[in-house]
Amino acid sequence: MKKIGTIFAAVATVILIAVIVWDGYFNKNTSTDFFAMDTVISASVSGADSEICVEKIEACVNNLDALLSRHDEKSEISKINNSSIATVSEKLGGYLSSLLDICQKSGGAFDITLGAVSDLWSFGKNASIPDETELQKVLSECGYENISISGNTVTLSSGKIDFGAVGKGIALDEIRTILDASKINEATVSVGGSVLIYGKEAVKVGIRDPYGNAGRSIASLLLSDTCVSTSGSYERHFEENGKRYHHILNPKTGYPVDNGLISVTIISDSGLVSDALSTACFVLGIEKGTELAEAYGCEAIFITESKQIYTTESIASEIEITDSSYTLIGYEN
Ligand code: AMP
Ligand code: MG
Repeated sequence: MKKIGTIFAAVATVILIAVIVWDGYFNKNTSTDFFAMDTVISASVSGADSEICVEKIEACVNNLDALLSRHDEKSEISKINNSSIATVSEKLGGYLSSLLDICQKSGGAFDITLGAVSDLWSFGKNASIPDETELQKVLSECGYENISISGNTVTLSSGKIDFGAVGKGIALDEIRTILDASKINEATVSVGGSVLIYGKEAVKVGIRDPYGNAGRSIASLLLSDTCVSTSGSYERHFEENGKRYHHILNPKTGYPVDNGLISVTIISDSGLVSDALSTACFVLGIEKGTELAEAYGCEAIFITESKQIYTTESIASEIEITDSSYTLIGYEN
């Protein structure tokens, strides 16, 4: 009898160890932090393929940076910017077409040809208010209508293409493709202000405090399998004579948007859309921004400088305010 008990205990132990090993293998967690696209990228990936996936994610972001950076002379974007006409990869042609659609639907509030205007402001470096005459001259050369695409040939009659508003979101889409092709259960990947929540399990996502440190949030909501992008005037900015000048520009004036908003968060299945629309809706303001977000089937969260939070219709009830100095107004039409 004692012998049967010993055998039973041994079998149970073996099964327990097997379960632990099995679970450890299929839920293996791998994390990484690295710098690319002028920002910090953090990935936390869980699943049997997590280690190889993290390596692929890093390679993917670096390749994308080399494709899209307008400061890299060898990038396809530089090829277009420097020679006005260029043959591009099918991938870049596809991204450009999707972005031109957003430029049009936003009525030009989103404009990917503002590169030379951004250069004049040089946010993040030795930023200062540009000379007015020079600013207006450079601005007059911008306009998404200057881009035309025919097959793999892109023509840019004037202006400089800048993917600064969308590269990070595009990275999330490419990372999702890697995860889909691997044995991964869940993952969270943040590329600057854009985050991919991967997997069926709902995750509590914080909305960043626009007046506080990057790690502090003022509200939260549960999200699964989606992309979340935030654009904020707190990101790249400087102050002169008590006024804040930040990196999100009004294409009509060439000056930073000054409409009472401090941040806009967009939630979308597509990282390209969430990132582009976070910038576009910031420029458009609450009313028109809500319309654009709805046109793309996205949710939007607008935070004003006076700490009021406006949202698209269905998300209002999902948001939990964690900082009582903010007021949830929700959806207003
Ligand atoms: P984001 O942080 O995603 O809102 O992107 C901001 C970046 O997009 C800026 O640093 C510029 O490179 C670029 N940008 C600024 N204003 C615009 C605009 N109106 N449309 C498109 N891109 C813009
Ligand atoms: Mg953006």
